[in-house]
Amino acid sequence: MKALVYNGKGKFALEDKPVPQIQEPTDAVVKVLYTTICGTDLHIVKGDVATCTPGRILGHEGVGIVQEPGSAVSRFKKGDHVLINCISSCATCDYCRRGMYSHCEKGGWILGNTINGTQAEYVRIPVADSSLHPVPQGVDEKTLVMFSDILATGFECGVQNGKVQPGSTVAIVGAGPVGLAALMTSKLYSPSLVIMVDQDPNRLKVAQKFGAEYVVNSAEVSAEEEVMKITNNVGCDAVIEAVGVPATLELAQDLVAPGGTIANVGVHGTSCCLKMEKLWDRNMSITTRLVDTTTTPMLLKLFAAGRLNPKDFITHEFNFKDMEKAYTTFQAAAQHQALKMLISM
Ligand SMILES: [Zn+2]
Ligand SMILES: [Zn+2]
Repeated sequence: MKALVYNGKGKFALEDKPVPQIQEPTDAVVKVLYTTICGTDLHIVKGDVATCTPGRILGHEGVGIVQEPGSAVSRFKKGDHVLINCISSCATCDYCRRGMYSHCEKGGWILGNTINGTQAEYVRIPVADSSLHPVPQGVDEKTLVMFSDILATGFECGVQNGKVQPGSTVAIVGAGPVGLAALMTSKLYSPSLVIMVDQDPNRLKVAQKFGAEYVVNSAEVSAEEEVMKITNNVGCDAVIEAVGVPATLELAQDLVAPGGTIANVGVHGTSCCLKMEKLWDRNMSITTRLVDTTTTPMLLKLFAAGRLNPKDFITHEFNFKDMEKAYTTFQAAAQHQALKMLISM
């Protein structure tokens, strides 16, 4: 089968690989129909993710058809259409029992990281019963791919951890796919306003379309001054950091209101400055989290009911044979006004 393989820092290629086989009775082999590329895949290609070693098939998002369920898989049968979860989880270990699927002893973020992933014609899914979702009836399976990772990540790590409530003021730093997913799902709680901060005018335009009341281009103006102007010098109750560099986490500290929360979503590779001289008396908190995907069944219900539709995240479509081009396009996302690349097999 064809698969997109990481070959060490800066290198990736579409290569021939053997079709994966069942290794444990709880595995399922899934024939992939659609997949996409995550910002995290670009981090891997840059050589930033030490756990992902050369030779790995990338990808942790996708929709497919169960090709072969292992003998202990009870929830799915051959031919079932499934959503592949970015997090694999056994549902029984200590972490899973606490809802921390991301730290599952048998799973967590392993797909396209420590085991072969979804950017291939077939993928082996461990602990399949609790790592796959049935496809809700009548939904668009291309749009469904957005529920493998980004919607739950924006919602859990950003909106829930940021304690967004009715009437909250929200600032989101970073209008990439996950920042926009936080914007879209923050609306489920009726915040009084959402301010999107980014440096890319196109992404800010998309944020407006997705319902941001204010957009701030931090390449042109001081984001702190603008946010303070908008909030009468108070700051925001929830500040969602969705970039993952020191400058944006430091900016988030300048935007948070007394009693507020900074919810970090970004994947950080270096230490950041914590402005304790400014924050020590602010009754504020900072949260971090890897997505657990505990809310994915709920988000899927809203999708099936037409209450949540992330169709507009898909800006580009490619056939899998052009996967390398899809990567280079996504690597130059600003130039191509790219959010999510939908890859069809
Ligand atoms: Zn991802
Ligand atoms: Zn577990």
